[in-house]
Amino acid sequence: MTIWNLGSINIDKAYRLRHMPRPGETLAATGFHKGLGGKGANQSLAAARAGASVVHLGAAARADDWVVGRLTASGVDTTHIVRHHDQATGHAIILLDDEGENSIVIHGGANRTLQLDQFKSAIARMKGGDFLLMQNETNLQVELAQIAAKRSVRVVYSAAPFDIDALRAVLPHISIIAVNEGEAAQLTDLLGGDPDVEGMLITRGAEGAEYRDLRDDRHFQVPAFAVDVVDTTGAGDCFAGYFVASLDRDEDIPSALRLAAAAAALKVTRRGAGDAIPKLAEVEQFLA
Ligand code: ATP
Repeated sequence: MTIWNLGSINIDKAYRLRHMPRPGETLAATGFHKGLGGKGANQSLAAARAGASVVHLGAAARADDWVVGRLTASGVDTTHIVRHHDQATGHAIILLDDEGENSIVIHGGANRTLQLDQFKSAIARMKGGDFLLMQNETNLQVELAQIAAKRSVRVVYSAAPFDIDALRAVLPHISIIAVNEGEAAQLTDLLGGDPDVEGMLITRGAEGAEYRDLRDDRHFQVPAFAVDVVDTTGAGDCFAGYFVASLDRDEDIPSALRLAAAAAALKVTRRGAGDAIPKLAEVEQFLA
């Protein structure tokens, strides 16, 4: 089956500085790194590297072939990514100083300009049994989830960045909600209990992860693998992409959790977001 992913595409630009710039100050960076990011792109990469057939629905600037090329090179179908002449690709400017502090500026750019009619041909191909992945870094989630759910496409929503109004609007159309520990606590507080969905995936960093089947009231847990942690950016996205790719292959929940935890463990041993997500063969070797 197909995993459709309505998702953000970002370029992460990280600048190393001796100290954070003060108002009015111009500073020369002592280092620079450019990487692929955005929760959407990360999740597409993870699901594709896990072996699934993934179609990304999103947008980027025409000038940024680099970022779309990275997705294509990992096997993501990028033919439905809208290419703009007059919109910037979403990006994050990350400032890191010698004290280990960071400051981040995010510009959603093209990620927030999506229109339903741009995805007409993709929508026409969605069918029962497919998955629709979504996060909260684009627009159009409610509209697309509504259409997908009517066709028995299982909608999986990563409620990040967390926004209760966005969540409430999309909730009637989603099957599985994916959150980290902090988001899970906010969600329960603000909704006054568990959401009315089929299942809830909760990742808990170094504590592992949990899947709650809310229809049968069954809980499944997986511990995190013990690894040397280098960078946890994108660990949750790596987990979500691998988890959904496993469900798409009809694997049971415990197997899906174990594979996703292993993939996320490998990811945290590497620097970067999308670029650090492992391929299925690496994950299988890690588990062997
Ligand atoms: P991000 O926003 O950076 O993508 P997140 O907060 O959504 O992360 P986490 O819950 O921190 O996601 O981590 C996702 C998964 O990654 C965890 O469930 C676990 O399997 C794995 N993981 C995270 N941190 C560690 C760690 N220190 N050691 C091993 N595995 C880890």
